[in-house]
Amino acid sequence: LNRRLAEFGTTVFAEMSALALRTGAINLGQGFPDTDGPEEVREAAVRALRDGRGNQYPPGPGIPELRTAIAAHQQRRYGLSVDPDTEVLVTAGATEAIAASLLALVEPGDEVIALEPYYDSYAACIAMAGGTRVPVTLRPGEGRFRLDLDELRDAVTDRTRLLLINTPHNPTGTVLTREELASIAELAVERDLLVVTDEVYEHLVFDGAEHIPLASFPGMRDRTVTISSAGKTFSFTGWKVGWITASPQLVRAVRSAKQYLTYVSAGPFQYAVAEALALPESYFTGFRADMLAKRDVLAAGLEKAGLTVYRPSGTYFITADIRPLGETDGIAFCRALPERAGVVAIPTAVFYDHREMGAPFVRFAFCKRADVLREATARLSGLR
Ligand code: PMP
Ligand code: GLN
Repeated sequence: LNRRLAEFGTTVFAEMSALALRTGAINLGQGFPDTDGPEEVREAAVRALRDGRGNQYPPGPGIPELRTAIAAHQQRRYGLSVDPDTEVLVTAGATEAIAASLLALVEPGDEVIALEPYYDSYAACIAMAGGTRVPVTLRPGEGRFRLDLDELRDAVTDRTRLLLINTPHNPTGTVLTREELASIAELAVERDLLVVTDEVYEHLVFDGAEHIPLASFPGMRDRTVTISSAGKTFSFTGWKVGWITASPQLVRAVRSAKQYLTYVSAGPFQYAVAEALALPESYFTGFRADMLAKRDVLAAGLEKAGLTVYRPSGTYFITADIRPLGETDGIAFCRALPERAGVVAIPTAVFYDHREMGAPFVRFAFCKRADVLREATARLSGLR
């Protein structure tokens, strides 16, 4: 392994999912649903396979049907007009979108600011691009993990190239507010920064929180790469269909990197995701309501087990503090949890450069069947 990647061995998700398999514990670690997405969308994939649509290399930017559906979604949902021919790129999941964006836009030595705790691929991709990551820590307070806008402002230097934002935020569940996003946008304009914004949980917001794309703020359209994915919104994480929307110039740049990473993304699933994006609004509201109910089951169970819960306004993750249990080291706690309670969770510390700040936090995924969540919380209730 070269020096750029030396600090990134196995991702924590692979490690923890393997631990769940080995011990037979309930896996609330890696974020994937245990129920597949809509039947009609699965049928659409089967039809595409059978009819021979997408079985050979599809077009580089993605099939026109999907690009049109992505543009229509941005218009319908956010009033953003996106040209499907020049302003959309289909990628192999959001993961490739993140990698290709950073590889295309970061020069070696550039600083990239990311919200800490950050999704683990951000750090590895910044490193692969030769960039330097500059974490800005979300700090717990008033029931949520909050962004300190002064700290963000202070983190910008003459070498800062790009802000890497994630809202709704994995792992904390924070949804940045309109005011916070407006301040980020002002800073980006003032300091002439590019922004890559990972919005894969755009449809998972609760309790009246609103997801607002950063691209919709003044001055942001031409400096923002917006990332999303069918994995999260339609519960098909195995399909690896993601996308970016951005200005033609930025899409061209990211596409240059994508061409040499995967060339194109798998064909038949693109036809199915095009149909998924056109599902009636009732699908999206039903999905959100279902996840909200799951959140409340897990949050109540974790509270009963004695943890301090930061009830998330978005995503399908809960971050909890284990200190009320007399524990301080989330990594040790998560390693022992399968034996102790038959449950797997993710230690949030691995998403921090300032590990000590993340030490007492543990992330649990609630995108699981209600009976699984109830069983998990019953098991966790013995922790005290
Ligand atoms: N970004 C975030 C914040 C995520 O949580 C995930 C998925 N866990 C991804 C990107 C990757 O998405 P995909 O599976 O579409 O590659
Ligand atoms: N995004 C998912 C999570 O945060 C898993 C992604 C992965 O395994 N790379 O759990």
